[in-house]
Amino acid sequence: MIEQLEAYAGEWDICIIGGGATGLGTAVDAASRGFKTILLEQYDFAKGTSSRSTKLVHGGVRYLQQGNIKLVMEALHERGTLKKNAPHLVKNQKFIVPNYKWWEGPFYGIGLKVYDWMAGRLGLGSSQFLSKEETLQLAPTLDADGLRGSVVYHDGQFDDARLAMHLAMTAADKGAVIINYCKVKGLIKEEGAVTGVYIRDSLNEKDYEIKAKAVINATGVFTDLILKMDDPLQENIIAPSQGVHIVLDKAFLPGDTAIMVPHTDDGRVLFAVPWHHKIIIGTTDTPIESHDDASLREPVALDEEIDFILEQIGRYLTKDPTRKDIRSVFAGLRPLVKGDSKKTAELSRDHLITVSDSGLITITGGKWTTYRRMAEDVINTAIRKKELENKPCITANLKIHAAKEDTGFNEPLYYYGTDAEHIQSLVQNNKTLGELLHANLPYIKAEIIWAVQCEMCMTVEDALTRRTRAILLDANAAIEASPLVAQLMAKEMNKDIHWQEDQVRQFRNIAQNYLPSG
Ligand SMILES: Cc1cc2nc3c(=O)[nH]c(=O)nc-3n(C[C@H](O)[C@H](O)[C@H](O)COP(=O)(O)OP(=O)(O)OC[C@H]3O[C@@H](n4cnc5c(N)ncnc54)[C@H](O)[C@@H]3O)c2cc1C
Repeated sequence: MIEQLEAYAGEWDICIIGGGATGLGTAVDAASRGFKTILLEQYDFAKGTSSRSTKLVHGGVRYLQQGNIKLVMEALHERGTLKKNAPHLVKNQKFIVPNYKWWEGPFYGIGLKVYDWMAGRLGLGSSQFLSKEETLQLAPTLDADGLRGSVVYHDGQFDDARLAMHLAMTAADKGAVIINYCKVKGLIKEEGAVTGVYIRDSLNEKDYEIKAKAVINATGVFTDLILKMDDPLQENIIAPSQGVHIVLDKAFLPGDTAIMVPHTDDGRVLFAVPWHHKIIIGTTDTPIESHDDASLREPVALDEEIDFILEQIGRYLTKDPTRKDIRSVFAGLRPLVKGDSKKTAELSRDHLITVSDSGLITITGGKWTTYRRMAEDVINTAIRKKELENKPCITANLKIHAAKEDTGFNEPLYYYGTDAEHIQSLVQNNKTLGELLHANLPYIKAEIIWAVQCEMCMTVEDALTRRTRAILLDANAAIEASPLVAQLMAKEMNKDIHWQEDQVRQFRNIAQNYLPSG
């Protein structure tokens, strides 16, 4: 992709900084409207918050509790739109809300009926009351002591980094230039107006200048660092809040049903959701003071966050999970827009678009679920402010790259949609590529070859963290698989043994953050 950048010396219509959900969605919107679009990501696509979510495409039952009707309505609408446009990635997930007190059944039952009603014809299924016996049939490891029954409801579930990759590919299919490992180091300004960006490609260590009619800052928790490039006196607008998840073996919650705990000790909701044959449990809400590049890059779970999750979920399961049971732990930072409130759990999940005096456009906040709507809003703003041609947004009906109907979510390679055929043909041509990377991981060698050839996979970390989700499913297994992955990649990329050793070392350093200490 850097070759495409080098080949084009003209002015771009839209330059997007940041390759997470917001930036990639914006690139899809801009390119599909016919704008000449470039996106720059300093590390890998979705390396930040966008690969560290709870993986729910949801209206947000919690925001309903808070009375944020507008956000819930918008998110439920987007949930339906995404399910239609990326049917290979968005799964209909059944959730149980267990009731141990007499009032919980009617209370949550009515709330979830309102949730159903708000989704309207885009609903994924009606909520209903279940008896104790019916509840235990769906979730046999739920603590039966004192259980009165449950309310069951439906929401969407997805693979966040995979959707990010398919958004990058959708934007590229529509003509955008999408580049990872390219950091914006500064803003080009002429007479006080932002007219482009200075960038450094960290792979070839070359610097470039990019001129663009509109520069869009979509950098999540890094937003303030870009705003300070524009105006060093700018006050921070983001209050990062850390959320942690732990991953357990499926034995803790067999079957296909997720659990939603509506009220934890800190007043949040807690999810335990089946995902790629494991269980993801989270999350927390811990305000983070530090705004520097290094601490935003690799957030690390705190011991007390892990203990909190273990304790809360332990109250609902027959067998209490311990640290030894944790296969992986991951932390992500919410880019919450500051408000008057001091508690991050109460800060707005709504998105915010600002236009600086220099013309720099910033979009932040929001949720993965609402990325498409956020992108539509920010490109509409760019059209208005930068006098670009007024072309209509088409993403509400635009299929995402590799979209495939009737996906069998238990089939191997389902998350590649129609691209699975290409991976299967790699295996047909070379049977050894059908071998697993590791006995405890569901990924085959051909997925690494495909990632290098067609998904801009540059490092072992890209391969084991976001092209596959190995590190989230089993961090120790991912560490053990890393030399093999480095070897496969080196052959494909024409790299030597020193590159392989360096890649494995770097990956193992990062992987330490996914292992629970103690
Ligand atoms: C714990 C947790 C759970 C969540 N669960 C859900 C959920 O289940 N469902 C849901 O809908 N939402 C969820 N969210 C919210 C959702 O994940 C975020 O709103 C979304 O991922 C934010 O995307 P983003 O693109 O704005 O930020 P990011 O994903 O952080 O992307 C910003 C990107 O900008 C890049 N960047 C920064 N500076 C530069 C620079 N100078 N040059 C180039 N690139 C740069 C970064 O490297 C980064 O990749 C969750 C969030 C958290 C933290």
